[in-house]
Amino acid sequence: MLKTDILIIGSGISGLFFAMKTAKKRPDLSIVIMTKKTAPNTNTQLAQGGIAVVTNHIKDSFEQHIKDTLKSGGGHCDQAIVKMVIEQAPERLEELLKIGTSFDKNQEGQWDLGLEGGHSQHRILHHKDSSGLEIEKKLLKIIEQLPNIQLFENYQVIDLNTETKQEQTTSCGAFFYDKNTDQIKYIRTRCIVLSTGGCGQLFENTTNPEIATGDGIAMAARAGAEIEDMQYIQFHPTALFRGEKNPLFLISEAVRGFGAHIVNEEGKRFLFKYDSRGELATRDIVSHAIYREMHESRKKHVYLDCRHLDPSAFYQKFPSIAKHCNEIELFPEKDLIPIVPAAHYQCGGIKVDRNGLTTVKNLYAIGECARTGLHGKNRLASNSLLEALVFAHQASENINSTIDSFEFSSKILVPKFTGTENKKDHVTFLVLKKEIQALLTNFYLSEERDTDFAFQKIKLIKNAAETLAAKQQITIPFIEFSNMLTVALIIIKHCKKRKTPFIMSLN
Ligand SMILES: Cc1cc2nc3c(=O)[nH]c(=O)nc-3n(C[C@H](O)[C@H](O)[C@H](O)COP(=O)(O)OP(=O)(O)OC[C@H]3O[C@@H](n4cnc5c(N)ncnc54)[C@H](O)[C@@H]3O)c2cc1C
Repeated sequence: MLKTDILIIGSGISGLFFAMKTAKKRPDLSIVIMTKKTAPNTNTQLAQGGIAVVTNHIKDSFEQHIKDTLKSGGGHCDQAIVKMVIEQAPERLEELLKIGTSFDKNQEGQWDLGLEGGHSQHRILHHKDSSGLEIEKKLLKIIEQLPNIQLFENYQVIDLNTETKQEQTTSCGAFFYDKNTDQIKYIRTRCIVLSTGGCGQLFENTTNPEIATGDGIAMAARAGAEIEDMQYIQFHPTALFRGEKNPLFLISEAVRGFGAHIVNEEGKRFLFKYDSRGELATRDIVSHAIYREMHESRKKHVYLDCRHLDPSAFYQKFPSIAKHCNEIELFPEKDLIPIVPAAHYQCGGIKVDRNGLTTVKNLYAIGECARTGLHGKNRLASNSLLEALVFAHQASENINSTIDSFEFSSKILVPKFTGTENKKDHVTFLVLKKEIQALLTNFYLSEERDTDFAFQKIKLIKNAAETLAAKQQITIPFIEFSNMLTVALIIIKHCKKRKTPFIMSLN
């Protein structure tokens, strides 16, 4: 039976940064990181634009960054949290630099700060257009060197176990599927940190990789933790349109910051009709404008126009984007790039306090799966990597000073299922997954949002899945599918709670 002081679920920026900090400060604690595929398989490694930090205190200030964040959040941010995150940013950046993370500098040796939608100043530190990959690589390298951390790949956590102590629900362990041996096992722990990322895979068009099925939200909800604001899903306006493909390749906001235009079928810019900032309005406004344009023209996409930009500067600044476009025979210097808005970021999630603690004792949530109060209705670009670092720090400090009073549960659980992955049901669940994606996309983007109809459809899909599952042992596609169903229901319920039309819910 496995046992560890701290169990971290997820190997993105939040989980790894938390693990690194805690392992260094408390070498006496054992830390296990479980991740459902290989370690780099995360949203983190796909982050292009970078991380928002005020570094130039002459042109920029914490106050301006705070103001931009609050404005983007549409009056729904927690002001104290916004202040804490933005003022802590330089210290967390310093820690990334200390482990060798590199960000681009200009010819004068100053940070080459990018500009993104909703930011009033250039303040985005970036590593070309692959900032997340750079951070993920450097963190993984450090994690390998820390003797009190064990990282298990292909360990998919299925559910959390809790017990009631002094009338409080307390997390004490987790069931997981070891894909390497095809077995379901149990781990006992003194505390759990969820760092499981978002749920973009619930939608037809998304920039999120396959791992983003909302597992952390579903597991936390089943454990009794409060979930908040799941009606605020951010759509990124510029995902590369490629028919039915999922996930879609992202064309970073920084490309618009660099001067790219968004044009319709007639080659005309249309964003100024919707906002005086044009292409540099926040993502909600740009996405909404694009959907309106697509609706009116009955087209499946609009275009990003980079043809007026300096090609050599473009290729130098955005090598990964240029490479990806070229591979599919698109040349930004001469072709219009077809784009469509895609589900990109989950602004709500597991409700946490300023230390990342959920409403369940000894259960923490950090990174995209957490609802901290930073983003409100609409995350400001490049604030999420920052949020992940700050809340990993907060949770680490809190756990370091409290864990000595947390005890292991005396209960040792044996999983009811032994479980073998039945390959046959992959196809069936793929079909059901597509049904959820279509249902939620139609529901979320429709003007009316008919919640009763959506609930009925979900019930039918659930019945089909249960009938299928009853015939066999528990399998990975079934687990993921169940989590997606749970999260879809939460999103629909939250949309019902606060009636908001179309994706302007984000504003
Ligand atoms: C294409 C793209 C570009 C982006 N660009 C930027 C940007 O420029 N700046 C910015 O600030 N933000 C950006 N974001 C958002 C940002 O990347 C994410 O919010 C952030 O990386 C999330 O980090 P995380 O640690 O919370 O989770 P992730 O990096 O998503 O990691 C989640 C981890 O949890 C694991 N996991 C999930 N469920 C389970 C389970 N059941 N069992 C075991 N493991 C599990 C996954 O395997 C993965 O390891 C971008 C996102 C995308 C998709």
